[in-house]
Amino acid sequence: MSVVTRFAPSPTGYLHIWSLRTVLYNYLFAKQKDGKFMLRVEDTDRSRYVEGSVENMLEVLASVWLIPDEGPNNPWENGPYFQSERLDLYQKYITELLEKDKAYYCFCSSEKLTQDREEQQALWLPTKYNGTCRYLSEDEISKNLADNIPYTVRLKVPKEEIIEFRDTIKGKISVPSKDVDDQVLLKTDKFPTYHFAVVIDDHLMWITDIIRWDEWIPSTPKHILLYSAFWWELPRFSHVPPLIWKSKKKLSKRDGDVAVELYLEKWYLVEALMNYLALLWWNPKTTEEFFTMEELIQRFDLSQVHKAWAFFDVERLDFFNSHYLKTTSTDTIYDKLITYLNRYDNEFSELIKTYPEEFNKKILEELKWRIKKFDEYKGYTTCFYNESKIPELDLIINPKMKLESISDVLESLKVTLDLLENSNMNITNLDSIKALYIEKIKEAWMKNWQVLWPARCALSWEKFSPWAFEMIYILGKEESLKRIRATIEGLK
Ligand code: GLU
Repeated sequence: MSVVTRFAPSPTGYLHIWSLRTVLYNYLFAKQKDGKFMLRVEDTDRSRYVEGSVENMLEVLASVWLIPDEGPNNPWENGPYFQSERLDLYQKYITELLEKDKAYYCFCSSEKLTQDREEQQALWLPTKYNGTCRYLSEDEISKNLADNIPYTVRLKVPKEEIIEFRDTIKGKISVPSKDVDDQVLLKTDKFPTYHFAVVIDDHLMWITDIIRWDEWIPSTPKHILLYSAFWWELPRFSHVPPLIWKSKKKLSKRDGDVAVELYLEKWYLVEALMNYLALLWWNPKTTEEFFTMEELIQRFDLSQVHKAWAFFDVERLDFFNSHYLKTTSTDTIYDKLITYLNRYDNEFSELIKTYPEEFNKKILEELKWRIKKFDEYKGYTTCFYNESKIPELDLIINPKMKLESISDVLESLKVTLDLLENSNMNITNLDSIKALYIEKIKEAWMKNWQVLWPARCALSWEKFSPWAFEMIYILGKEESLKRIRATIEGLK
């Protein structure tokens, strides 16, 4: 049977960065095997339901190109995709389990269950259901049902069995059944619990591979018991370890961004985010670090996923992002930048749209080598889009570069002025500007930085900006001359 994987989120909020990893692995694995990747919404716990979260998750997944082959937005043959719309199905399978004596009615009230639990805790015993209703007679059950006593249905866990499964990542796992609780399968409100619905749905949706967070390992034996109660074939399990901050703290909103949408708002490139997430646990067994989505699909190997925790390091993500910014064509990055600005800084976007596109792209071409992500972009561009100023004296006077006084600065600015006024340089070619510039500096018997520093300050008046030749290349001859002359006048 061809591979079918799934992501089964509970609609309790935004998509977390660690869930995105789970989706990515499910997606890569399915695509690699020419299989299918499905999305199912596990919304049976109505008390935790957050309005709008499903729509938001689907939107975020589409933004990072992880579009399910089947799910609420593209239904196909295995729907419905919301568990709350599948209640009849669960009812049918609960009846089958009761008939097979693999499950039983439990009429214990929640007060009694709480009291039992507290007694167990007081004695330092593991808290488990104590089995009161496991051995009720047929008559007792019929009477309770006839009296409309609210009930749950529990799994009848065998007493002396070893439950075993092989996990692709963790290896062989075995658990004695005496350590497994008689899990509630159907709640008093007739909604299934996660444990029951997940098994029914994974089976009915033909899921062959369950790739999920390893928090679910302790639940897997319960699921296995259900598969065997129905005589259903077991899927393969792969439990991926958790993600924590680099500081070794648990990943939580208090210490950084955990919602994927916040990373998208900072406009991390999808390529960078996916590449970084894939490598957090998966060891590609090579020194290569950069993989496109196609390469990830080809090379991803579930058996090479680490067993240990992974550390989420935003600086490392920035490193990947800056790699993709540098290596993607300026035209492509420009379109993304404009979309980003339209969305998050419309005023700035309107401002730059009043300049020729060619000019804007020249700026981006230089800045994409300096920024790590788009939200840093605006900060570097004041010198291009604002009225020019005269640089501060303590910026332009720089003794380390032999610029001790205003007259030193004026002397060296003359070299740039001469270059702009008298040479025949090709302003559209950065290399030719560089070559001529260096030539001129040599002719003047000066040091490179001695000339380039004050020129840069006069052209950009900022502490951080591209170098003088790049500024000239972007601003053009006329504007560069205007700025150099204005600074010379101002200093005089
Ligand atoms: N609904 C569960 C969750 O949100 C899914 C767990 C599973 O993948 O089986 O974590």
